[in-house]
Amino acid sequence: MNKETCISCGVCWSIAPKVFELDPTTGKTKIKEPYLKNDSDKESVGEIPEELRPDVEKAASNCPVGAIRVE
Ligand code: SF4
Repeated sequence: MNKETCISCGVCWSIAPKVFELDPTTGKTKIKEPYLKNDSDKESVGEIPEELRPDVEKAASNCPVGAIRVE
């Protein structure tokens, strides 16, 4: 997910709370452990199990700024 475009609206935290959380140090969303693979100032990259994919896809389609990408 892209931290530069994230507006911290909280939609993804409520739709996929196992995957997304507020990072209090940046005020932006980050991917939770144990799914977090790489976290920088610009983006948070993770790898999720298949059973969480529907929630993450739903979060991505509901993110108002399109900050979440699912590959
Ligand atoms: S839904 Fe999008 S804008 Fe809102 S907190 Fe999540 S990543 Fe940020």
